[in-house]
Amino acid sequence: MVRSYQCPGCSAPMQFNGEKQKMVCEHCGTELTVEELDEISKFDVDTGEQVEGEFAETGDTAEFNSFKCSSCGAEILTDDNTTATFCSFCGRPNMVQNRLSGELTPKHVIPFKINKQSAVEKYREWAKKGIFTPSMFSSNATIEKITGMYVPFWMYDYNARMNLSANCTKVRHSRKGDYEYTYTDHYIVTRDVEAQYDKLPTDASEKMPDDVMDKVEPYNYNEMTDFEMPYLSGYYSEKYNFTAEQLAPRAEKRIRQYITDTTRSTISGYTTVNITRQNSQLRKLKAEYMLMPVWILNLRYNEKDFLFAMNGQTGKIVADRPLSKGKMAAWYIGITVVMTLILALIGRF
Ligand SMILES: [Zn+2]
Ligand SMILES: [Zn+2]
Repeated sequence: MVRSYQCPGCSAPMQFNGEKQKMVCEHCGTELTVEELDEISKFDVDTGEQVEGEFAETGDTAEFNSFKCSSCGAEILTDDNTTATFCSFCGRPNMVQNRLSGELTPKHVIPFKINKQSAVEKYREWAKKGIFTPSMFSSNATIEKITGMYVPFWMYDYNARMNLSANCTKVRHSRKGDYEYTYTDHYIVTRDVEAQYDKLPTDASEKMPDDVMDKVEPYNYNEMTDFEMPYLSGYYSEKYNFTAEQLAPRAEKRIRQYITDTTRSTISGYTTVNITRQNSQLRKLKAEYMLMPVWILNLRYNEKDFLFAMNGQTGKIVADRPLSKGKMAAWYIGITVVMTLILALIGRF
């Protein structure tokens, strides 16, 4: 079934406003904290039973990918993973409650902090800066498509231990008369390092490219809060495609790299280091399901896709900058001229 939040004053939809960190009705201006809204719209999460009338809902079940809008009754089509979306007819935010309960209940959420308006401004600045950015990337029609999306993550805590042995040398030279002496001291170096890695995030959505999400980090976890459905109102959201077990190898690969780097960084001051044995053991302590905010814009240019992504909390931008052919050609001409000049000068000498 789908749910949405109605303004207690005028029944218009309420959406989460990142800059105010409140639920806001854009129709009459009513502002409520998530807790306040929770108070007045209590419902039983397990049975889905409505306690008060503030919730609009319909009787569809989540086994289907089509729902009736809780406001206008129009049909909302979703894919299997959508947990929050908009009615394409009336624009009201709708949350797919069955996909956010039971095992699918996120443990935490980092709420959006950057509003659509600020996201658009930051995108414009970015598009302006690129000397090769095609002008169509700055068109209003393109910018309108920027989307606030809560991306599902698994967040892991691991205990890691690494044993390492290395054959190392220290070499020094000295000179006596016509003779040069080389002294080589040999060392066997061993390390036993134990470390705990907390809150390692791993993107659990199939659609988001892993490398993009890795670069969108870090998030400030001090602003992480317990999950409440109202935070999703006004954004798109998806449930995880991959379980914590399925994604553990990705997290473990990163942790193995971290503990290896940490351990190796303690071996210094030698002329040569030759690792003869290294062995790491990882123990998973915890995996928690959480949602992180990202502004996304899909761009298409010269039959290539580009993804603009921005951390919805910190504003950090990750994007492949597209190259405009016209601007590229101008740049090449510039380079050719300079190169020719330099070559001509070199030729003279
Ligand atoms: Zn209102
Ligand atoms: Zn509707």
